[in-house]
Amino acid sequence: MNQPAQLILTVDYEVFGDGSGQPLPCVLASTERILAIAESRGVPLTLFVEALEFAAMEREPACQAQSAAVRLQLIEALARGHDLQLHLHPQWQGAKLDPAGNWQLDLSRWRIGDLPFHEVADLVERGRVWLEELVRQQRPDYCCIAFRAGGWCIQPSAPVLAALSDQDFLIDSTVAPGLRNTTAGEWSDFRDAPDLPFWNADHDLSIPVSHGVWEFPILTGRVARLDHLKALRKAGLAEGCQGSYRGPGGATARFFGRLSRLRQLGTVMLDFSTLPAPQLIEITRQWCEHFAGEPASLPLVAIGHSKNFTATSERALTEYLDWVNGQGIVGTTYPDALESIRSG
Ligand SMILES: [Zn+2]
Repeated sequence: MNQPAQLILTVDYEVFGDGSGQPLPCVLASTERILAIAESRGVPLTLFVEALEFAAMEREPACQAQSAAVRLQLIEALARGHDLQLHLHPQWQGAKLDPAGNWQLDLSRWRIGDLPFHEVADLVERGRVWLEELVRQQRPDYCCIAFRAGGWCIQPSAPVLAALSDQDFLIDSTVAPGLRNTTAGEWSDFRDAPDLPFWNADHDLSIPVSHGVWEFPILTGRVARLDHLKALRKAGLAEGCQGSYRGPGGATARFFGRLSRLRQLGTVMLDFSTLPAPQLIEITRQWCEHFAGEPASLPLVAIGHSKNFTATSERALTEYLDWVNGQGIVGTTYPDALESIRSG
């Protein structure tokens, strides 16, 4: 590799978008396994914490034990050298448990990109304050500076970028270049993302400007369609985790969304929950070769989810991090990656 590359290993830390899934198997246990693997390979993990759902759990008497366990895991991860940043699913705002123990969420608020600026600003502030209050008990100088939109639903991006900028966020890491989701109520479209390893945006995430929030995109790449199909068939849920990927449009929208995703067969995110190691390595290799001429250090953002991190994912992540270390790629966090880019 011609320039130092830095891996930012991220996990979206959450239960399912419709409220299903128990925190113990779907978040806590699987995250502990990811932390252990990352630590054994000397790579810090960034947990994108979906703060609204954990704030909602804290309001419910029935969820006190699991809320305490989540707080403990987050604080301990930080003490062990990992990082915490903000992830938001607006449907969790004001969520309540019904008598049967199921979460009642407002699925019409699935896309943060659909909300007016004042609501986006309010959600970002609630999430940021929840996370900062938690972390500052241990690290008083902590500031939440990086964001990822729930379900990649950040577009149209102007209100979200304005809210992030107003609240001193420096980085968004939602964009997955080249990918599109046409599912009703869940759409995203990153086919127009700039052909850059990172950029600044102040209004439209697909238009690079000289100021504004930094975009550190999630790596995407091409893999053989048959290999992609095999990986999709093998994908499962974390051990003991049960839940539903039901979205705001229900089963019919999901069916048509799945059809549209199949048309993109072969283009994938660098997702260590669902891809085998050879594909993770191939995507990283493609990205490093494509941006080999860039002068600055190259951030490589990988994504995973605690809820679908399986025993197969454990083997893939271990093998991938061994390759990463063998390549001289260094594991880092968003604040440190930004610092190294700025110091040039
Ligand atoms: Zn999410």
